[in-house]
Amino acid sequence: MRVRFVDLGRQYLELREEILAEFDEVSSGGWFVLGPKLQRFEEEFAAFCGVRHAVGVANGSDALLLSLLALGLGPGDEAITAPNSFIASAWAIARTGARLRFCDVGEDMNLDPDKLRDAITDRTKAIMPVHLTGRVARMEEIGAVAAESGISIVEDAAQAVGASRNGIKAGAFGSAAGFSLHPLKNLFVHGDGGVITTSDDSLAEELRRYRNHGLKNRDEAAFWGINSRLDEIHAAIGSLKLKRLEAWNARHREVALRYSEELAGIVEVPVDGPGEFSVYHRYMIRTPQRDELAQHLEERGVETKVNYPIPLHLQEAAKDLGYGPGSFPVCEKLADTILSLPVHAHLTDEEATHVIESVKSFRFVGGV
Ligand SMILES: *Cc1c(COP(=O)(O)O)cnc(C)c1O
Repeated sequence: MRVRFVDLGRQYLELREEILAEFDEVSSGGWFVLGPKLQRFEEEFAAFCGVRHAVGVANGSDALLLSLLALGLGPGDEAITAPNSFIASAWAIARTGARLRFCDVGEDMNLDPDKLRDAITDRTKAIMPVHLTGRVARMEEIGAVAAESGISIVEDAAQAVGASRNGIKAGAFGSAAGFSLHPLKNLFVHGDGGVITTSDDSLAEELRRYRNHGLKNRDEAAFWGINSRLDEIHAAIGSLKLKRLEAWNARHREVALRYSEELAGIVEVPVDGPGEFSVYHRYMIRTPQRDELAQHLEERGVETKVNYPIPLHLQEAAKDLGYGPGSFPVCEKLADTILSLPVHAHLTDEEATHVIESVKSFRFVGGV
């Protein structure tokens, strides 16, 4: 049996008729950008997250970049994020011209609020917690540290659509939040896409201009913006899929909780704390024999990934920031021990069983 890490074709087959109908409707209507499909999707997405506004953009990275720019981040400022994220969390900050700083993570793999104060300087203007793997960071404490110093929060919620913490959804904690609709995310469109959420009316207005050249109407630009919009066809597909998202996320959780039950004690498994509702965008186990286990699983037909093997502060792109090996010990240990097992909404019970049995058939040396 071959268990693929993701299987996007299966989702298409579930929705094929509806997607083709949307494609037909948008195409024959001839309205492809900034039209009624986008407006509807934005309203639905905002309601889903429990915020006042959602703004569709071209991808999740732009969602982060535009949020930071609209909050005024720029040269002379600093912003902090986690070093164990996808590259975009880092470049979104660096691209504003602000200085990029990292802060180590905790056992939940998310920004550690206890270490944040050491990373804050009098130039810090924004903190970008990443809700890695679909698990919301410790936002109550992070919010309290940020509020002490008048610092804005932009959530990197790219992996966390539908996740919540103490009843509050990802995307509703910060001044703004960036989501990705990339095909590898829990809610995906047929190409690149992204969404910004905010409950700040004037920030939402600014963001709508930013994504559309800085235009306030057809001919007048209030400032130099960029062109980063969510196309009508993607928005239409987003609306279709948003209706299924809770069921799909529930399936992610079902598979993940089954893995955890069966694999606890064999490898380190993720455990939701009180009030946490993770959507398991990724299901990451930890073991010192990560590379050997990955090889063993590959031989048994189970595809795995490491998200992510090289911490951001050790990237060539970060060489001028003054960090090195040892700067963020928790993050660096994670990079050497994490392994993502296949979890997706269309994974079958038989496939999940094969994954579990394949892990169990590996001969671990010296325990967890
Ligand atoms: C996917 C991802 C992004 C970027 O989203 P794109 O839509 O690919 O630009 C940013 N941050 C995190 C944590 C991600 O997983």
